[in-house]
Amino acid sequence: MDLNIEKIQHIVDLLQEAQHAWAFTGAGVSTESGIPDFRSVSSGLWENVDPMEVASVEGFLYNTPRFYEFWHWRFGILDTAEPNITHHWLASLEQKELLRGVMTQNIDGLHRKSGSQTVYELHGCYEQGSCIKCQSQYTIEQIFERAQQEGKPRCDQCEGLLKPNVTLFGESLPAAFYEAFSELAQCDLLLVLGTSLEVFPAAEMVPQVKQHGGQVVLINAESTGMDDLADVVVHSRLKDVVQPLSEMI
Ligand code: NAD
Repeated sequence: MDLNIEKIQHIVDLLQEAQHAWAFTGAGVSTESGIPDFRSVSSGLWENVDPMEVASVEGFLYNTPRFYEFWHWRFGILDTAEPNITHHWLASLEQKELLRGVMTQNIDGLHRKSGSQTVYELHGCYEQGSCIKCQSQYTIEQIFERAQQEGKPRCDQCEGLLKPNVTLFGESLPAAFYEAFSELAQCDLLLVLGTSLEVFPAAEMVPQVKQHGGQVVLINAESTGMDDLADVVVHSRLKDVVQPLSEMI
């Protein structure tokens, strides 16, 4: 851990000076709520599961029962998880008008659950699903019920296949992604929390802010390929950094 009081004070100062600060979060923000991330060494989901089987358009279309078997297991974890200190701290910063809001790669809905008002869900959210043909909306529970009965959940209106509203590998991004991206021209501080920065184009958020002259604070347990771009880098568990930060700001 490379944390010291100077770094904490520096982050506090940056937050107090910024006019357009945003948080950009990844799966590491929710591991302390019991949701495994994808790429942590030894505990990441992709250690034991093939992402192309359970998180790609091909996996969804060509092996739908396996896809839903995985998502049903994952749903059990997502649906019972509660926000942790980092989610609550970000919500409180927004309430104090020190943060504009959160751009998240997470699909777990925990930022909204903790009280954050402006949340761009860059890869969607697990709670809803829709028909890939006619876009009729369903709750995830309705979809699982059909998946369990029929293997392939189908739409009442057009018999199209039903899919959770999360962005799969090989799929185009939701409108929220482009709305968030357009905010970055004005962003003067980006708090990058708990992300490996390996998923593109989401990871482009970081160079985008630097190009516009903004500052970047990166807090992650492991080093990332973009550490060199950041103005402040902390390699630490989030709770160990957010605890002292939340006592100061
Ligand atoms: P990732 O798994 O690639 O990286 C997570 C990073 O967080 C790792 O570098 C890890 O070292 C770090 N980390 C883990 N626990 C931490 C902690 N307590 N404190 C500080 N750092 C910690 O995840 P990613 O970068 O978000 O990107 C991949 C994709 O993962 C996203 O598209 C997202 O949709 C998906 N995902 C989301 C969830 C979720 O919604 N909670 C969970 C898993 C994966």
